[in-house]
Amino acid sequence: MKRGSRPELLWGFGLNSIEAGKIEDSLGPGFYLRNFSERALPGEKELKNQEKPAATWIPQRVWDLLPESRRVEYRNLDSTQRILIQEDKDNVDLEKVLEEGFLAVVSTPLTSSKVQDALFRAKEISGLYGDLYRMTEEIILERELLSRKTEQLIFLNTVLSNATERLEVSDILAQAGEDLKMLLPVLSVQGAFWNVLEGGKDIETEIFLSQGLLPEVQSEWIDFMIENVKTLSKAEVFGYNVSEVGIVGENRMAYSPSAGRVLALPLAARGDKFGCLVILCDSKVRLAKDQVSTLNAAVNHLSLALSNALMFSKIRTRADRDGLTRVFNRRSFDERLVEEFKRHQRLNTDLSLLMVDLDFFKNINDTYGHMAGDMVLERVARLFECTFRSTDFIARYGGEEFVILLPHTTEDNAGMLAEKIRKIIAETTMTYNDKSFSVTASIGVTSIRPGSLDKDNEIISKADEALYEAKRQGRNRVVVTPAKPQLRII
Ligand code: GH3
Ligand code: MG
Ligand code: MG
Repeated sequence: MKRGSRPELLWGFGLNSIEAGKIEDSLGPGFYLRNFSERALPGEKELKNQEKPAATWIPQRVWDLLPESRRVEYRNLDSTQRILIQEDKDNVDLEKVLEEGFLAVVSTPLTSSKVQDALFRAKEISGLYGDLYRMTEEIILERELLSRKTEQLIFLNTVLSNATERLEVSDILAQAGEDLKMLLPVLSVQGAFWNVLEGGKDIETEIFLSQGLLPEVQSEWIDFMIENVKTLSKAEVFGYNVSEVGIVGENRMAYSPSAGRVLALPLAARGDKFGCLVILCDSKVRLAKDQVSTLNAAVNHLSLALSNALMFSKIRTRADRDGLTRVFNRRSFDERLVEEFKRHQRLNTDLSLLMVDLDFFKNINDTYGHMAGDMVLERVARLFECTFRSTDFIARYGGEEFVILLPHTTEDNAGMLAEKIRKIIAETTMTYNDKSFSVTASIGVTSIRPGSLDKDNEIISKADEALYEAKRQGRNRVVVTPAKPQLRII
């Protein structure tokens, strides 16, 4: 026995005093024998909660008298090494002893060397059992870790492939909201992205918010996003635009910032920060260390997909828009006209078109220079954007000529709108290189009524005719081509 350590426990099941005495004497003070009386042998339940012995000594005569149910119980005590004390040494049935699960047999009379030897073997086996047990535990742990790693890989793979399959920022965010639920109790995923403007100090921000937010909740989120963008970009927010995150399936996710815990994660691609992913999750969420690194890996994947989607949208905008005025170009107008015409036919609604041509524009170029002419075109495009609804379609048709397509607008209303914009243009003072001047425009207006038999390109030729008439009548005016009367079946 080591100094200060407790003696090791041994059990005896019905040992007589000679056997108990011999065992105790043989093993010395390092061991403590607890001998249960033959008439009061403990049951399985009783033994389970006790300190486990290094070995249990059982004389053959006791074992033979045990009922079979009790023997089964003792056999099932797998961590207890049993040593059988055999009184009739010539009559040992080894096969039976092994079957009964004994580790060793010692014959009487007990000697120190027999007792020590049997105990030594019992302890060796216990040690082996212990090692096996620990190894099994380690293997189980490894397997758990491995299955967790596999789950993480499956999760990252889902996030990555879903994100790269999508080209629209709003779709990527909506899908991320679904996919991240595998990792966290996500309520919504929103985001803000910025664009550094010329000069490098100001930024323009595009904010993507959940659909269906109440106006006051939307303002809360906008404030939150702008604050985050300012901090991350270290620049002033010059302007922002709000778009909506798409919907995946039936899943609408409209929550306020106080509905849970907000994680605002910076997004970077190719070494530059360009945005912020805002994940709202259940306030009870606690992330383990490996979950945090999985989330970071997922956000890295999303960063790349989002930055590609933003680039794609910029390129598409470039293809759809006129480079100087940033309103739509003629190609997109032609496509939109066909769409709107179909809608007009299907839904039986009014459709109006304004064709606007700046008057004596050549003179502007000649007097103030081509750059001044460009500035005027840009300025006029902004006046259009401020005057018309977002559902109206403004395009540069060519040179100093613009077209504005007005769905669901009657001829009378289109005429009034044309007059309004004509006045706005005429009353706007243009300044270029400290020189002030103004421009006027002539506008041709035409409409197609519900049920009309017009073709889509007729609307253009009629607006063109009206514009020509406005020029002929002296410019700076609006001419409305009366729409054909509706076809009536009498
Ligand atoms: P009208 O009142 O009959 O329309 O006279 P106008 O001078 O406006 O018409 P005209 O067709 O004779 O001239 C159009 C001018 O618009 C000629 C062209 O140089 C100018 N222009 C077309 N595109 C641009 C542009 O992108 N920038 C500038 N600065 N000028 C342009
Ligand atoms: Mg002109
Ligand atoms: Mg012209």
